[in-house]
Amino acid sequence: MSWFSKVKKPLEAITSRDKIPEGIWKKCDECKAIIYGQELDNNFQVCPKCGHHHRLSARERIRLLIDEGTFQEKDGELAPNDPLKFRDSKKYKDRIAESKKKTGLNESAISGSGLMCNRPVEIAVLDFDFIGGTLGSVAGEKITRTIERSIRSRHPAIIVSSSGGARMQEGIFSLMQMAKTSSALGELDELKIPFISLLAHPVTGGVSASFAMLGDVIIAEPKALIGFAGPRVIEETIREQLPEGFQRSEFMMDHGFVDMVVPRLELKETMAKLLDHMCGAIACLLPLESKEDSTDSAKSGA
Ligand SMILES: [Zn+2]
Repeated sequence: MSWFSKVKKPLEAITSRDKIPEGIWKKCDECKAIIYGQELDNNFQVCPKCGHHHRLSARERIRLLIDEGTFQEKDGELAPNDPLKFRDSKKYKDRIAESKKKTGLNESAISGSGLMCNRPVEIAVLDFDFIGGTLGSVAGEKITRTIERSIRSRHPAIIVSSSGGARMQEGIFSLMQMAKTSSALGELDELKIPFISLLAHPVTGGVSASFAMLGDVIIAEPKALIGFAGPRVIEETIREQLPEGFQRSEFMMDHGFVDMVVPRLELKETMAKLLDHMCGAIACLLPLESKEDSTDSAKSGA
């Protein structure tokens, strides 16, 4: 096996950050260090030299957050349709087929049940490599079902967002997922079941305008882009230069949109501690009869 796979482009072309050939070595997007691919994989795509967070697939995200061997995927068979027969530069159904091949997923969201440091949770994760992690109607349905499982089981809900927003190829069917997921979260909130929203680069558009910003605790990975419209659109609209770090996690925390910025390798422990704290506090707040029979309290709360 060669160390670098062959490229037919001139040498200067591969110095650009996106053109590094696929092989056993990878180049850090930030510090440009050449890193052994396996080392980056073992480190969940965090650069060991500079700490830059590269994109993590949804499956790897599950491996990061959920105890080994405990994840039970739900609704994995659900796949998107093409209700509008949409076509832009490509047919929507061709985009779906390409994304399925690229990611091995049926839709941009993976969802299921598992343990986080021995605590049962319901989790849904968006994968940016599937049409930009966009919120199609099936992704919205899987997220809603995750919240509904939380409501039934009273286990905390975790949603990890990495998404360009609503999926324009599904038009209104995509936009209505914003209301549907938010409505389910409203019910979860009434029952005082904890919901942690984790934001990974980037979180924009309809996802940032719905469930991603409705967490009891909103955690962001360092330097993730978080906002509704992107900085380029805002700059062109207001014709002003934006401040440094605008819409990045740290800026959003300073301005009250995000509660915590946590490095990827500390996420699981931090979230488990938060859940211990939140679930402990909720147990104290519940009336005695609710503690004895959680099913009855769920009914009365709904
Ligand atoms: Zn680096």
